[in-house]
Amino acid sequence: MSTKTNKEIDIHAKSSKPKFKLSRKLSDIEKSYTKIKEEGIAFSRTLSERISSSGDTTGTPFYHFRWKRHFLADYIAYPKSDEDVIKIIQSANEYIVSVTPRGAGSCYYGSGSPTNGGVVVDMKRMKECQINKDNMTATVQTGICFSNLMDLLDEKDLELGCYPTSALTTTLGGWIGTGGTMGIGTVQNGPFLNQMVSMKVVSPTGNLKQYNEKDDFEQFFGSNGIFGIVTEVVLKIFPKSTKTDPIMAGFSSLGDLLKAIQVILSNTNPFVLRFSDKYHEYNCSGLTRHSHYMFLLYNGRNKDLDTDVKEALKLIEQNNGTFLGTKFSHDTWEDYLKHELKIKLETPVQMLQQIYIGFQKTELILNYFEKLIKKNKLNHCFYGLINRDNNVRLCLYTPTDNEYWMHFLSSKAVISRVVKYSYKLGGRIYTYGLQNTIYLHKFEKDKLKKFREKKAEVDPNYILNPLKIVKSKISFFRINMMFELIMFYRRIATKLGLAKEILVLNI
Ligand SMILES: Cc1cc2nc3c(=O)[nH]c(=O)nc-3n(C[C@H](O)[C@H](O)[C@H](O)COP(=O)(O)OP(=O)(O)OC[C@H]3O[C@@H](n4cnc5c(N)ncnc54)[C@H](O)[C@@H]3O)c2cc1C
Repeated sequence: MSTKTNKEIDIHAKSSKPKFKLSRKLSDIEKSYTKIKEEGIAFSRTLSERISSSGDTTGTPFYHFRWKRHFLADYIAYPKSDEDVIKIIQSANEYIVSVTPRGAGSCYYGSGSPTNGGVVVDMKRMKECQINKDNMTATVQTGICFSNLMDLLDEKDLELGCYPTSALTTTLGGWIGTGGTMGIGTVQNGPFLNQMVSMKVVSPTGNLKQYNEKDDFEQFFGSNGIFGIVTEVVLKIFPKSTKTDPIMAGFSSLGDLLKAIQVILSNTNPFVLRFSDKYHEYNCSGLTRHSHYMFLLYNGRNKDLDTDVKEALKLIEQNNGTFLGTKFSHDTWEDYLKHELKIKLETPVQMLQQIYIGFQKTELILNYFEKLIKKNKLNHCFYGLINRDNNVRLCLYTPTDNEYWMHFLSSKAVISRVVKYSYKLGGRIYTYGLQNTIYLHKFEKDKLKKFREKKAEVDPNYILNPLKIVKSKISFFRINMMFELIMFYRRIATKLGLAKEILVLNI
């Protein structure tokens, strides 16, 4: 049995700029799934499975693979154990077949989409869970979906320290892959990384490793699975909060909202702090009265719950905010996990970019975003989350419709301008994935260098999640040029009164 290696990678592996070369031979792919079949691991080659396992929430990969077959998986493997994952990776190394780990596919920016065909490793059958109440940990396979794990914990009056808003679908492995930095509970308990006790990872060469230190866990968070497939984690768990108190408040200006956030965070300990504008809330719950909104949740793990709630209400009032009532606040929390999807109901394309930046820069970014939108007669809305370290995840949307190509492309271009401005102010992209890797390459060269060196070291055959993070087929120069041209075109059209306005919300 001869094991192929990619010579070019070996040659450059020691240099600071390794070359990551892709190979894709259909005969090798066939040999690899024949081997998977012989090993008794479930797999599928049906077109419907290949299509449904190759996209994510952005839809761009679907758009691509209509013409370019390498964005479509050649087959899907369904491991149930660490041993299955090891065998899949070993066979992929033997025949040089690209491997894309996949959770629920609920990420954005093509993070979990294949870029060179090969095998998609669907982790969702790896969902075993053992709860240990004595040492308050749960040992969990990473293909389990957050809400299923939360239900199992709930039965024993336990809960997690944090989880993403996409908990209804997202898997533990997927949230690790995209960083797990901000979601529900992270403002109180820090990122998902802080909840780890230990991790098991199958390396890109097929070796199972166990990690017990935070410094070692870190490399896998936000790496899009390029350094290994995380198969099992031991997590901290907590006694279930006996009480939760949600607060929904409206503000008449961005300035008042931001002042309120600052004092509330300094004086109380919320489990959730989300802020948004009226376009976002209108789409989620029909609100129109205020220009900006804040949602807070206090939970029973906080010993000063009642004092904190009173303090928050006082601070909201002092900053010209209005509490929208207990019933509305509870209804908002009840519906919270569906919110982000609701804003897609009325909009054909809900273009989204996520910026990770210091709270102090939030006002600058949002004002710049709004100015560009107004100037170009486009649509927008946003929401943001904040963590204790004063960093925010700003989710900026430009609702559009791809039937109107100029509106569609301008909406993309505006967001790209905001990304460039954010980098100028010291921010960065929240999730790199496939499409956003260009910004990492352009603006974060030191970080990229480290990613590349590590990748060359751990994945000599460059098989695990290729064309994410370390290499990109898309060029920043080309994309930027296209966006700048379209912005120019849109500006002229706007000045001449020819720019078509669509999906306008008169609220
Ligand atoms: C409605 C909605 C709400 C959201 N809310 C949040 C939020 O609050 N916070 C937030 O951060 N994001 C949020 N997101 C983004 C998204 O949910 C996250 O990116 C999520 O982590 C994706 O998980 P997944 O299981 O769907 O993984 P996938 O989308 O399948 O994969 C994500 C990445 O992880 C890799 N991967 C998957 N499994 C593994 C594994 N076992 N080992 C190694 N790598 C792996 C994949 O290759 C891919 O690069 C939201 C998305 C939606 C649609």
